[in-house]
Amino acid sequence: MTHSHRDITELLAAHGLAPRRAFGQNFVSDPNTVRRIARMANVNATDHVVEIGAGLGSLTLALAETGARITAIEIDHGIAPVLRDVVKDLPNVSVVVGDALELDWNEIIPPGSSAVVVANLPYNVATPLVADLLDAIPQISRFVVMVQKEVALRLASSVGSSDYGAISVKVAYWATARVLGDVPPSVFIPRPKVTSSIIEITRRETPAVGPHIAPQQLFKVIRTGFGQRRKMLRRSLAAIATPENFENAGVSPESRPEELNVEQWGRLATEIQKNHRP
Ligand code: SAH
Repeated sequence: MTHSHRDITELLAAHGLAPRRAFGQNFVSDPNTVRRIARMANVNATDHVVEIGAGLGSLTLALAETGARITAIEIDHGIAPVLRDVVKDLPNVSVVVGDALELDWNEIIPPGSSAVVVANLPYNVATPLVADLLDAIPQISRFVVMVQKEVALRLASSVGSSDYGAISVKVAYWATARVLGDVPPSVFIPRPKVTSSIIEITRRETPAVGPHIAPQQLFKVIRTGFGQRRKMLRRSLAAIATPENFENAGVSPESRPEELNVEQWGRLATEIQKNHRP
């Protein structure tokens, strides 16, 4: 069973709850949408699924039907008891009340095991969440998440696209990403102003750039470059990069940040790093 439009309005009314904008609460009230996401997640009884922002359990119920073991995380102490009640008869679902940005993820997904994140992500924290989890929690092998369409385009875009930015390079460093489909505002209570997209992010076995540069060093150079998006890199990186760095990396000093793929950023950052070596 999944929640209908009426189930959501009744659950909210019965508990005296109203959707809270501060927590990015837009509840899915359409069984077809949550089943579609569960299908796209492509998980089964052998998988551990972590759902971030489970809300009233719309997606949780559809995910539980796959047989996967589900850890459902929810920040809102008002919603959490309702969620617990919704899933109380499902032995494969456990609820964790807490802030996904602050949780001890190694407790949720013990190192050595792996999990798939499937979620209708709270839109206000979607980008930092995906970025932090890619950086810090290698046990997450894949994400199938719904986010604002423009965020999905940024996460999944490649070099040359107008959506391509520092976050796209970070995703490309750790993973491959693709947009799986769009979801209209009409399936949510309340209706958001924007279209949503479902995106799949699959972690690479090894990062796209070789072992000679630490990710945080690389990302710092990338952020500096994109900080002045319209400038040529020889200007925006003037304080850290020499002409020889560009030459050795095989990157034109006249290029702009959106023209470099992750491998080119990797070569450039590796050269820049050598400046600090004796
Ligand atoms: N998955 C549900 C709810 C989506 S709304 C559905 O599809 O209907 C997003 C949910 O994320 C809300 O329930 C909100 O309270 C929760 N949330 C917001 N910020 C969070 C955070 N930092 N950590 C965990 N949950 C969060």
